Amino acid sequence: MTEQSPTPTFASRLPEPRVAPSIADTADHHLEIEGVTKTFGRGGSRGGRNEVLKGINLHVARGGTTAIVGPSGSGKTTLLRLIAGFESPDAGRITLDGEAVAGERWVPAHRRNIGYVAQDGALFPHLSVGQNIAFGLDHGKYRGRKVVAARVEELLEMVALDGSYAKRRPHELSGGQQQRIALARAMAREPEVMLLDEPFSALDAGLRVATRRAVSKVLAKAGVTTILVTHDQAEALSFADQVAVMRGGKLAQIGNPFVVYTRPADRATAEFLGDAVILDAWLEGSLAMCSLGPIPVRHPTTQGHVQIMLRPEQVRIASDSPIHGTVLDWDYFGPESSVRIKLADRPADLALDSRVPGGGEVITIRHWNAAMARKGMDLALKVIGEGVAFPLGEPAAGPSRLAE
Ligand code: ADP
Ligand code: MG
Repeated sequence: MTEQSPTPTFASRLPEPRVAPSIADTADHHLEIEGVTKTFGRGGSRGGRNEVLKGINLHVARGGTTAIVGPSGSGKTTLLRLIAGFESPDAGRITLDGEAVAGERWVPAHRRNIGYVAQDGALFPHLSVGQNIAFGLDHGKYRGRKVVAARVEELLEMVALDGSYAKRRPHELSGGQQQRIALARAMAREPEVMLLDEPFSALDAGLRVATRRAVSKVLAKAGVTTILVTHDQAEALSFADQVAVMRGGKLAQIGNPFVVYTRPADRATAEFLGDAVILDAWLEGSLAMCSLGPIPVRHPTTQGHVQIMLRPEQVRIASDSPIHGTVLDWDYFGPESSVRIKLADRPADLALDSRVPGGGEVITIRHWNAAMARKGMDLALKVIGEGVAFPLGEPAAGPSRLAE
Protein backbone atom coordinates (compact mmCIF):
# COMPACT_ATOMS: atom_id res chain seq x y z
CA MET A 1 0.00 0.00 0.00
CA THR A 2 1.78 3.12 -1.14
CA GLU A 3 0.59 6.55 -0.24
CA GLN A 4 1.21 9.15 -2.90
CA SER A 5 3.89 11.50 -1.70
CA PRO A 6 3.33 15.24 -2.08
CA THR A 7 5.28 17.02 -4.77
CA PRO A 8 8.44 18.71 -3.43
CA THR A 9 7.19 22.22 -4.20
CA PHE A 10 4.28 21.72 -1.84
CA ALA A 11 6.24 19.88 0.80
CA SER A 12 8.90 22.56 1.05
CA ARG A 13 6.26 25.10 2.07
CA LEU A 14 4.60 22.98 4.73
CA PRO A 15 4.66 24.10 8.34
CA GLU A 16 5.56 21.56 11.01
CA PRO A 17 2.45 19.57 11.90
CA ARG A 18 0.97 20.37 15.26
CA VAL A 19 1.10 17.60 17.80
CA ALA A 20 -2.09 17.10 19.76
CA PRO A 21 -1.77 16.30 23.44
CA SER A 22 -2.69 12.66 23.85
CA ILE A 23 -5.89 11.69 25.60
CA ALA A 24 -5.03 9.76 28.70
CA ASP A 25 -7.67 7.06 28.64
CA THR A 26 -7.28 5.91 32.18
CA ALA A 27 -8.63 2.54 33.20
CA ASP A 28 -9.87 4.11 36.45
CA HIS A 29 -13.33 5.06 35.22
CA HIS A 30 -15.46 6.49 37.97
CA LEU A 31 -18.57 6.55 35.84
CA GLU A 32 -19.43 4.39 32.83
CA ILE A 33 -22.44 4.80 30.61
CA GLU A 34 -22.97 1.96 28.16
CA GLY A 35 -25.59 1.84 25.40
CA VAL A 36 -28.08 3.98 27.27
CA THR A 37 -31.36 4.80 25.51
CA LYS A 38 -34.38 6.76 26.69
CA THR A 39 -37.73 7.36 25.02
CA PHE A 40 -40.49 9.59 26.39
CA GLY A 41 -44.13 9.03 25.51
CA ARG A 42 -45.68 5.75 24.51
CA GLY A 43 -47.06 6.90 21.19
CA GLY A 44 -50.75 6.42 20.39
CA SER A 45 -53.29 9.19 20.07
CA ARG A 46 -51.91 11.37 22.88
CA GLY A 47 -48.65 12.36 21.25
CA GLY A 48 -45.80 10.47 19.62
CA ARG A 49 -42.82 8.67 20.99
CA ASN A 50 -39.79 10.87 21.51
CA GLU A 51 -36.54 8.91 21.37
CA VAL A 52 -34.36 11.35 23.29
CA LEU A 53 -31.20 9.27 23.90
CA LYS A 54 -30.17 6.85 21.17
CA GLY A 55 -27.37 4.74 22.57
CA ILE A 56 -25.01 6.79 24.70
CA ASN A 57 -21.53 5.50 25.58
CA LEU A 58 -19.38 7.66 27.85
CA HIS A 59 -16.59 6.99 30.32
CA VAL A 60 -15.58 9.53 32.92
CA ALA A 61 -12.27 9.24 34.75
CA ARG A 62 -12.12 9.62 38.53
CA GLY A 63 -11.63 13.27 39.46
CA GLY A 64 -11.98 14.25 35.80
CA THR A 65 -14.09 17.00 34.31
CA THR A 66 -16.32 16.18 31.37
CA ALA A 67 -18.38 18.75 29.49
CA ILE A 68 -21.42 17.60 27.54
CA VAL A 69 -22.07 20.24 24.93
CA GLY A 70 -24.91 20.31 22.46
CA PRO A 71 -27.77 22.42 21.19
CA SER A 72 -30.93 22.89 23.19
CA GLY A 73 -33.20 19.82 23.08
CA SER A 74 -30.39 17.40 22.21
CA GLY A 75 -30.91 15.34 25.40
CA LYS A 76 -28.27 16.75 27.76
CA THR A 77 -30.52 17.25 30.80
CA THR A 78 -32.12 13.84 30.26
CA LEU A 79 -28.67 12.19 30.38
CA LEU A 80 -27.78 14.01 33.63
CA ARG A 81 -31.11 12.98 35.20
CA LEU A 82 -30.39 9.35 34.28
CA ILE A 83 -26.97 9.55 35.91
CA ALA A 84 -28.45 11.17 39.03
CA GLY A 85 -31.14 8.51 39.24
CA PHE A 86 -34.17 10.77 38.67
CA GLU A 87 -35.07 8.76 35.56
CA SER A 88 -34.29 5.20 34.52
CA PRO A 89 -32.93 4.19 31.10
CA ASP A 90 -34.95 1.97 28.73
CA ALA A 91 -31.82 0.04 27.83
CA GLY A 92 -28.13 0.11 28.67
CA ARG A 93 -26.22 0.37 31.90
CA ILE A 94 -24.82 3.04 34.19
CA THR A 95 -21.95 2.05 36.46
CA LEU A 96 -20.50 3.98 39.40
CA ASP A 97 -17.24 2.72 40.91
CA GLY A 98 -17.65 -0.48 38.91
CA GLU A 99 -21.11 -1.19 40.37
CA ALA A 100 -24.24 -0.94 38.24
CA VAL A 101 -26.68 1.71 39.49
CA ALA A 102 -29.06 1.53 36.51
CA GLY A 103 -29.67 -1.29 34.06
CA GLU A 104 -29.06 -4.69 35.57
CA ARG A 105 -29.48 -3.20 39.07
CA TRP A 106 -31.26 -0.10 40.40
CA VAL A 107 -29.79 2.20 43.04
CA PRO A 108 -32.09 5.12 43.94
CA ALA A 109 -30.91 8.73 43.63
CA HIS A 110 -30.30 9.33 47.35
CA ARG A 111 -27.96 6.31 47.55
CA ARG A 112 -25.76 7.31 44.60
CA ASN A 113 -23.70 9.99 46.36
CA ILE A 114 -24.14 12.37 43.45
CA GLY A 115 -24.48 16.14 43.74
CA TYR A 116 -26.76 17.89 41.28
CA VAL A 117 -27.03 21.59 40.51
CA ALA A 118 -30.11 22.07 38.36
CA GLN A 119 -30.41 24.42 35.42
CA ASP A 120 -32.14 27.14 37.48
CA GLY A 121 -30.08 26.71 40.68
CA ALA A 122 -33.37 26.46 42.58
CA LEU A 123 -32.54 27.66 46.11
CA PHE A 124 -35.38 27.47 48.60
CA PRO A 125 -36.61 31.09 48.62
CA HIS A 126 -38.13 30.95 52.12
CA LEU A 127 -34.91 29.65 53.73
CA SER A 128 -31.81 31.69 54.51
CA VAL A 129 -28.58 30.98 52.66
CA GLY A 130 -27.27 29.14 55.73
CA GLN A 131 -30.41 26.99 55.95
CA ASN A 132 -30.21 26.25 52.23
CA ILE A 133 -26.65 24.97 52.61
CA ALA A 134 -27.36 23.11 55.87
CA PHE A 135 -30.17 21.29 54.05
CA GLY A 136 -27.54 19.29 52.19
CA LEU A 137 -25.58 18.26 55.29
CA ASP A 138 -25.54 14.76 56.68
CA HIS A 139 -27.26 15.42 60.01
CA GLY A 140 -25.92 12.26 61.50
CA LYS A 141 -22.41 13.61 61.02
CA TYR A 142 -23.05 17.30 61.73
CA ARG A 143 -25.06 17.60 64.97
CA GLY A 144 -25.77 20.73 66.96
CA ARG A 145 -26.17 24.36 65.93
CA LYS A 146 -22.53 25.34 66.36
CA VAL A 147 -21.20 22.39 64.39
CA VAL A 148 -23.67 23.03 61.56
CA ALA A 149 -22.89 26.77 61.53
CA ALA A 150 -19.16 26.10 61.34
CA ARG A 151 -19.61 23.67 58.44
CA VAL A 152 -21.89 26.14 56.61
CA GLU A 153 -19.22 28.81 56.99
CA GLU A 154 -16.59 26.42 55.64
CA LEU A 155 -18.76 25.67 52.62
CA LEU A 156 -19.37 29.39 52.04
CA GLU A 157 -15.64 29.99 52.10
CA MET A 158 -15.18 27.17 49.63
CA VAL A 159 -17.26 29.12 47.12
CA ALA A 160 -15.46 32.39 48.00
CA LEU A 161 -18.21 33.98 50.12
CA ASP A 162 -17.75 35.00 53.75
CA GLY A 163 -19.79 33.71 56.69
CA SER A 164 -22.00 36.82 56.84
CA TYR A 165 -23.87 35.56 53.78
CA ALA A 166 -25.42 32.75 55.82
CA LYS A 167 -28.09 35.12 57.21
CA ARG A 168 -29.15 36.49 53.83
CA ARG A 169 -32.10 35.35 51.79
CA PRO A 170 -31.60 34.09 48.22
CA HIS A 171 -33.31 37.19 46.74
CA GLU A 172 -30.65 39.39 48.35
CA LEU A 173 -27.93 37.76 46.26
CA SER A 174 -26.72 38.33 42.71
CA GLY A 175 -27.20 35.59 40.13
CA GLY A 176 -23.56 34.51 40.43
CA GLN A 177 -23.78 34.33 44.23
CA GLN A 178 -26.98 32.27 44.03
CA GLN A 179 -25.24 29.80 41.72
CA ARG A 180 -22.33 29.51 44.13
CA ILE A 181 -24.77 28.87 47.03
CA ALA A 182 -26.47 26.16 44.95
CA LEU A 183 -23.04 24.60 44.46
CA ALA A 184 -22.22 24.91 48.19
CA ARG A 185 -25.54 23.18 49.01
CA ALA A 186 -24.66 20.36 46.60
CA MET A 187 -21.10 20.16 48.01
CA ALA A 188 -22.54 19.91 51.54
CA ARG A 189 -23.50 16.32 50.75
CA GLU A 190 -19.83 15.58 50.04
CA PRO A 191 -20.64 13.89 46.74
CA GLU A 192 -18.12 11.91 44.76
CA VAL A 193 -19.72 13.00 41.50
CA MET A 194 -21.07 16.48 40.72
CA LEU A 195 -23.53 17.09 37.91
CA LEU A 196 -23.88 20.71 36.78
CA ASP A 197 -26.72 21.53 34.38
CA GLU A 198 -25.93 24.81 32.60
CA PRO A 199 -25.20 26.48 35.94
CA PHE A 200 -23.65 29.58 34.41
CA SER A 201 -26.02 30.28 31.54
CA ALA A 202 -28.07 32.90 33.39
CA LEU A 203 -25.01 34.96 34.30
CA ASP A 204 -23.65 37.81 32.22
CA ALA A 205 -20.38 37.31 30.38
CA GLY A 206 -17.81 38.61 32.92
CA LEU A 207 -19.49 37.01 35.92
CA ARG A 208 -19.90 33.74 34.02
CA VAL A 209 -16.15 33.37 33.49
CA ALA A 210 -15.33 34.32 37.10
CA THR A 211 -17.98 31.97 38.56
CA ARG A 212 -16.94 29.12 36.25
CA ARG A 213 -13.31 29.50 37.38
CA ALA A 214 -14.30 29.60 41.05
CA VAL A 215 -16.52 26.52 40.73
CA SER A 216 -13.93 24.62 38.73
CA LYS A 217 -11.31 25.34 41.41
CA VAL A 218 -13.55 24.16 44.25
CA LEU A 219 -14.38 20.88 42.48
CA ALA A 220 -10.80 20.20 41.39
CA LYS A 221 -9.49 20.82 44.92
CA ALA A 222 -12.05 18.42 46.39
CA GLY A 223 -11.21 15.85 43.68
CA VAL A 224 -14.87 15.55 42.70
CA THR A 225 -15.64 13.85 39.37
CA THR A 226 -17.60 16.48 37.48
CA ILE A 227 -19.94 16.56 34.51
CA LEU A 228 -20.92 19.96 33.19
CA VAL A 229 -23.76 20.32 30.70
CA THR A 230 -23.71 23.42 28.53
CA HIS A 231 -24.78 24.71 25.14
CA ASP A 232 -21.85 27.15 25.21
CA GLN A 233 -18.94 25.79 23.16
CA ALA A 234 -16.30 28.08 24.66
CA GLU A 235 -17.42 27.13 28.17
CA ALA A 236 -17.12 23.42 27.36
CA LEU A 237 -13.68 23.81 25.81
CA SER A 238 -12.27 25.85 28.70
CA PHE A 239 -13.86 23.95 31.63
CA ALA A 240 -13.32 20.32 30.81
CA ASP A 241 -10.54 17.83 30.20
CA GLN A 242 -12.98 15.74 28.16
CA VAL A 243 -15.63 17.16 25.84
CA ALA A 244 -18.58 15.09 24.58
CA VAL A 245 -20.55 16.63 21.74
CA MET A 246 -24.24 15.72 21.86
CA ARG A 247 -26.40 15.97 18.77
CA GLY A 248 -29.89 14.57 18.35
CA GLY A 249 -29.59 12.14 21.26
CA LYS A 250 -26.18 10.76 20.25
CA LEU A 251 -22.62 11.64 21.16
CA ALA A 252 -21.12 12.77 17.86
CA GLN A 253 -17.59 12.97 19.28
CA ILE A 254 -15.73 12.55 22.57
CA GLY A 255 -12.21 13.81 23.07
CA ASN A 256 -10.04 16.35 24.79
CA PRO A 257 -10.92 19.99 24.01
CA PHE A 258 -7.97 20.45 21.65
CA VAL A 259 -8.87 17.39 19.60
CA VAL A 260 -12.59 18.07 19.24
CA TYR A 261 -11.91 21.69 18.25
CA THR A 262 -9.05 21.12 15.82
CA ARG A 263 -10.05 17.68 14.51
CA PRO A 264 -13.85 17.53 14.60
CA ALA A 265 -15.31 14.21 13.45
CA ASP A 266 -17.74 15.71 10.97
CA ARG A 267 -18.79 19.00 9.49
CA ALA A 268 -21.76 19.56 11.81
CA THR A 269 -19.50 19.09 14.86
CA ALA A 270 -16.91 21.43 13.32
CA GLU A 271 -19.48 24.17 12.86
CA PHE A 272 -21.10 23.63 16.24
CA LEU A 273 -17.80 24.00 18.13
CA GLY A 274 -16.76 27.27 16.52
CA ASP A 275 -16.35 29.25 13.32
CA ALA A 276 -14.95 27.26 10.43
CA VAL A 277 -13.50 28.04 7.01
CA ILE A 278 -14.73 25.30 4.67
CA LEU A 279 -13.53 25.04 1.07
CA ASP A 280 -13.79 22.54 -1.75
CA ALA A 281 -10.46 20.81 -2.24
CA TRP A 282 -8.68 18.03 -4.10
CA LEU A 283 -6.97 15.64 -1.68
CA GLU A 284 -4.05 13.55 -2.85
CA GLY A 285 -2.02 11.64 -0.29
CA SER A 286 -1.99 13.96 2.69
CA LEU A 287 -2.18 17.28 0.83
CA ALA A 288 -5.40 19.07 0.00
CA MET A 289 -5.20 21.58 -2.85
CA CYS A 290 -7.68 24.46 -2.58
CA SER A 291 -7.98 28.20 -3.07
CA LEU A 292 -5.76 28.71 -0.02
CA GLY A 293 -3.02 26.61 -1.66
CA PRO A 294 -1.85 23.17 -0.54
CA ILE A 295 -2.92 22.30 3.00
CA PRO A 296 -1.58 19.29 4.92
CA VAL A 297 -4.19 16.88 6.28
CA ARG A 298 -3.38 14.44 9.08
CA HIS A 299 -4.52 10.82 8.60
CA PRO A 300 -6.93 11.46 5.73
CA THR A 301 -9.67 8.86 5.51
CA THR A 302 -10.71 9.75 2.00
CA GLN A 303 -9.10 10.94 -1.25
CA GLY A 304 -10.05 13.05 -4.23
CA HIS A 305 -12.75 15.66 -4.05
CA VAL A 306 -13.32 16.71 -0.40
CA GLN A 307 -14.19 19.64 1.78
CA ILE A 308 -11.31 21.02 3.80
CA MET A 309 -11.95 22.64 7.18
CA LEU A 310 -9.71 25.19 8.87
CA ARG A 311 -10.32 27.32 11.95
CA PRO A 312 -10.35 31.05 11.07
CA GLU A 313 -7.31 31.73 13.25
CA GLN A 314 -5.27 29.38 11.04
CA VAL A 315 -5.58 31.78 8.11
CA ARG A 316 -3.10 34.62 8.64
CA ILE A 317 -2.36 37.81 6.80
CA ALA A 318 1.15 37.48 5.38
CA SER A 319 3.60 39.99 3.98
CA ASP A 320 4.38 37.77 1.04
CA SER A 321 2.41 34.78 -0.23
CA PRO A 322 1.13 33.54 -3.59
CA ILE A 323 -2.36 33.31 -2.08
CA HIS A 324 -4.40 36.50 -2.32
CA GLY A 325 -7.83 37.80 -1.42
CA THR A 326 -9.74 41.07 -1.36
CA VAL A 327 -11.40 42.46 1.76
CA LEU A 328 -15.19 42.69 1.36
CA ASP A 329 -16.00 44.06 4.82
CA TRP A 330 -15.19 43.57 8.49
CA ASP A 331 -16.68 43.67 11.97
CA TYR A 332 -14.75 45.34 14.75
CA PHE A 333 -14.88 43.56 18.15
CA GLY A 334 -12.18 45.43 20.06
CA PRO A 335 -9.38 42.91 20.54
CA GLU A 336 -9.88 41.58 17.04
CA SER A 337 -11.82 42.11 13.87
CA SER A 338 -13.68 39.56 11.85
CA VAL A 339 -12.68 40.10 8.22
CA ARG A 340 -14.62 38.81 5.20
CA ILE A 341 -12.33 38.09 2.28
CA LYS A 342 -13.08 37.08 -1.31
CA LEU A 343 -10.31 34.73 -2.37
CA ALA A 344 -8.58 35.29 -5.69
CA ASP A 345 -9.04 32.81 -8.50
CA ARG A 346 -7.12 29.57 -8.27
CA PRO A 347 -3.52 30.18 -7.14
CA ALA A 348 -1.06 30.63 -10.00
CA ASP A 349 0.95 27.48 -9.30
CA LEU A 350 -2.19 25.36 -9.41
CA ALA A 351 -3.84 27.07 -12.38
CA LEU A 352 -3.03 24.21 -14.74
CA ASP A 353 -4.45 21.53 -12.47
CA SER A 354 -8.11 21.35 -13.45
CA ARG A 355 -8.96 18.96 -10.61
CA VAL A 356 -8.31 21.65 -8.02
CA PRO A 357 -11.67 23.26 -7.37
CA GLY A 358 -12.41 26.68 -6.12
CA GLY A 359 -11.27 30.19 -6.54
CA GLY A 360 -13.34 33.20 -5.63
CA GLU A 361 -14.86 31.78 -2.40
CA VAL A 362 -15.66 34.11 0.48
CA ILE A 363 -14.08 33.26 3.83
CA THR A 364 -14.12 34.95 7.25
CA ILE A 365 -10.93 35.20 9.26
CA ARG A 366 -9.92 37.13 12.38
CA HIS A 367 -7.26 39.74 12.74
CA TRP A 368 -6.09 41.85 15.67
CA ASN A 369 -5.29 44.92 13.61
CA ALA A 370 -8.36 46.54 12.06
CA ALA A 371 -6.13 48.85 10.02
CA MET A 372 -4.88 45.83 8.07
CA ALA A 373 -8.34 45.15 6.71
CA ARG A 374 -9.95 48.04 4.87
CA LYS A 375 -12.60 47.34 2.30
CA GLY A 376 -11.14 46.61 -1.13
CA MET A 377 -7.64 45.96 0.24
CA ASP A 378 -5.68 43.15 -1.40
CA LEU A 379 -4.19 40.81 1.23
CA ALA A 380 -1.60 38.05 0.96
CA LEU A 381 -2.70 35.04 3.03
CA LYS A 382 -1.03 31.99 4.48
CA VAL A 383 -2.34 28.97 6.35
CA ILE A 384 -0.86 27.74 9.63
CA GLY A 385 -1.09 24.08 10.60
CA GLU A 386 -3.25 21.27 9.27
CA GLY A 387 -6.73 21.10 7.86
CA VAL A 388 -9.39 18.43 8.35
CA ALA A 389 -10.90 16.75 5.28
CA PHE A 390 -14.57 15.77 5.20
CA PRO A 391 -16.04 13.64 2.42
CA LEU A 392 -18.17 15.64 -0.01
CA GLY A 393 -21.86 15.90 0.65
CA GLU A 394 -21.69 16.00 4.44
CA PRO A 395 -24.50 18.25 5.52
CA ALA A 396 -23.70 21.50 7.28
CA ALA A 397 -25.05 22.18 10.75
CA GLY A 398 -27.86 24.47 9.66
CA PRO A 399 -30.23 25.92 12.26
CA SER A 400 -32.82 23.18 11.73
CA ARG A 401 -30.20 20.49 12.24
CA LEU A 402 -28.96 22.09 15.43
CA ALA A 403 -32.46 22.41 16.80
CA GLU A 404 -33.34 18.76 16.40
P1 ADP B 1 -31.41 19.57 26.56
O1 ADP B 1 -31.11 19.55 28.03
O2 ADP B 1 -30.28 19.14 25.71
O3 ADP B 1 -31.96 20.88 26.12
P2 ADP B 1 -33.52 17.71 27.27
O4 ADP B 1 -32.85 16.47 27.74
O5 ADP B 1 -34.07 18.62 28.31
O6 ADP B 1 -32.56 18.48 26.27
O7 ADP B 1 -34.72 17.31 26.32
C1 ADP B 1 -34.56 16.51 25.18
C2 ADP B 1 -35.94 16.15 24.64
O8 ADP B 1 -36.61 15.34 25.57
C3 ADP B 1 -36.84 17.34 24.39
O9 ADP B 1 -37.50 17.11 23.18
C4 ADP B 1 -37.79 17.30 25.57
O10 ADP B 1 -39.02 17.85 25.22
C5 ADP B 1 -37.90 15.83 25.86
N1 ADP B 1 -38.17 15.56 27.28
C6 ADP B 1 -37.35 15.78 28.32
N2 ADP B 1 -37.90 15.37 29.49
C7 ADP B 1 -39.12 14.87 29.18
C8 ADP B 1 -40.18 14.27 29.95
N3 ADP B 1 -40.09 14.11 31.27
N4 ADP B 1 -41.28 13.86 29.27
C9 ADP B 1 -41.37 14.00 27.94
N5 ADP B 1 -40.41 14.55 27.16
C10 ADP B 1 -39.30 14.98 27.77
MG1 MG C 1 -31.24 21.08 29.45
